[in-house]
Amino acid sequence: MSSVADFLTAEHKTAFSIEVLPPVRGKSIEQVFKTIDRLMPFNPAYINITTHRTEVQYRDMGDGTFQRFTEHTRPGTVAIAAVLKERYHIPTVPHVICSGYSRTELENELIDLEYLGITDLLVLRGDRARGDNRFIPVEGGHSHAAELCRQVEEFNNGKMLNGKEHEPLGERFTFGVAGYPEKHEEAMNIESDIAHLKEKIDSGAKYVVTQMFFDNSRYFAFVERCREAGITVPIIPGIKPLTSLTQQSLLPKTFHIDLPEELAKEFRRCRTNDDVKALGVEWGIAQARELKAANVASIHFYSMNAAASIEAIAKAVY
Ligand code: FAD
Repeated sequence: MSSVADFLTAEHKTAFSIEVLPPVRGKSIEQVFKTIDRLMPFNPAYINITTHRTEVQYRDMGDGTFQRFTEHTRPGTVAIAAVLKERYHIPTVPHVICSGYSRTELENELIDLEYLGITDLLVLRGDRARGDNRFIPVEGGHSHAAELCRQVEEFNNGKMLNGKEHEPLGERFTFGVAGYPEKHEEAMNIESDIAHLKEKIDSGAKYVVTQMFFDNSRYFAFVERCREAGITVPIIPGIKPLTSLTQQSLLPKTFHIDLPEELAKEFRRCRTNDDVKALGVEWGIAQARELKAANVASIHFYSMNAAASIEAIAKAVY
């Protein structure tokens, strides 16, 4: 099977791809299957699976005290990537993140993935821990995604962390990285953010997947800036349909993105989540049609709680 990176670089009509989240700890994987089953008629070219760092939690001890502990709230990325690949015969792309992981733990993950024959990755720094006001790597961890890109490349080149040789089993890992049309929240400006994106490409990344955006002109301007900065790899737009009233404030706050005024005006008129869903589908169709007309290699749909809306958009666009 050729890599996702090769597929994205080859000549083809705009593909359809999706991102799913592992279930919350203790919940069944059935919900993930349901989402994918619903979207299978549109032939997803590949499926991404997010990874979530450990978070501090508190257990109510029932005597007025709370016990502090840490856990992965959404474990299982590697296993889900393997299960989905087997079940749907589609390339799966687990996200590999620096956040909460040491270099050794990351190498262990690469070994697991290699044994499973999963060699497409999305390499990310990952979110900071809840409650922290800046990203703090764990001891022996990476501070930026570019460092993890270099670790994967070293692994590909047969070098393990302990200095011993790694015998490659088959295909090398190939990977994409994240890009931000509206700038990453911590970057001083868009120019320095794109310079850091270029460092990830120079460290081996073969394509970029963008943060969600609702204004295509921001994406097109970003692609132009990236090209001017010498980034020549495919830049895959990531989009997410609106589905709930709470997203009015949640999306800008969580993802540091703007909603264009034309959309914001309509959003303010919505009274129920169903109104929002209808608006989200209408806006998503317009966004996807324009991106498809611009011949992007794939449109990547963020599917969390939005499978029905994505189905409606895909029906109209693909
Ligand atoms: P980086 O590329 O390391 O960039 C982070 C910040 O540091 C940027 O501001 C950048 O400009 C700056 N920077 C980079 N290199 C340097 C340097 N050498 N010196 C100084 N500054 C530098 N999060 C998760 O936890 N799990 C996921 O599964 C996940 N999936 C995602 C998928 C996509 C498509 C996207 C767009 C985001 C995803 N995220 C995920 C969120 C992402 O991890 C966060 O946005 C995180 O804060 C940054 O990750 P990054 O890989 O872009 O980091």
